[in-house]
Amino acid sequence: MVSEQLQTISPLLLAKNKEHVEGSICLDSLSRLKDILSDTTGQAQYSFSFEIDVNDICVIKTRIVANVILKCQRCLKPISINIEKNSILGIFSNSDELEALADNYEPLQLDEEVVSLDMLIEDELLLAIPIAPLHNDDECENSLYLANKNIKESPFSVLEKLKID
Ligand SMILES: [Zn+2]
Repeated sequence: MVSEQLQTISPLLLAKNKEHVEGSICLDSLSRLKDILSDTTGQAQYSFSFEIDVNDICVIKTRIVANVILKCQRCLKPISINIEKNSILGIFSNSDELEALADNYEPLQLDEEVVSLDMLIEDELLLAIPIAPLHNDDECENSLYLANKNIKESPFSVLEKLKID
């Protein structure tokens, strides 16, 4: 597959102009994310608002919405997870600036003037994805797990029956 050209942005410039950038990106084009997906079809919707806050910090308000197919860590079958991640990224380039960031900001180090938009989207998605996704008990296909669970629960069901009698 020919990789798409990365879209680079200049956060400082966009923040000065209070720009808003939104669109969608194929999950298939995000290489780090692709590695952990069970199915790479589909897209992520993104919306980025750039601004300078009262402390002169360049801020990116991000919203990413996607449906991703991961692998259930119990039965290894696909599991569909809806992701909706809203963040406020505070840009810094040195430790003083990092300390000045408000607590509710996610720090984003910017060494160069431009940054890849795809990389920002991918980072946000990776942060939002559960490390060990699991089906609900009644949807999971791991019969061994369910069988064990039933054995463990059996003393209680016996008690329940006694109560009814
Ligand atoms: Zn499962």
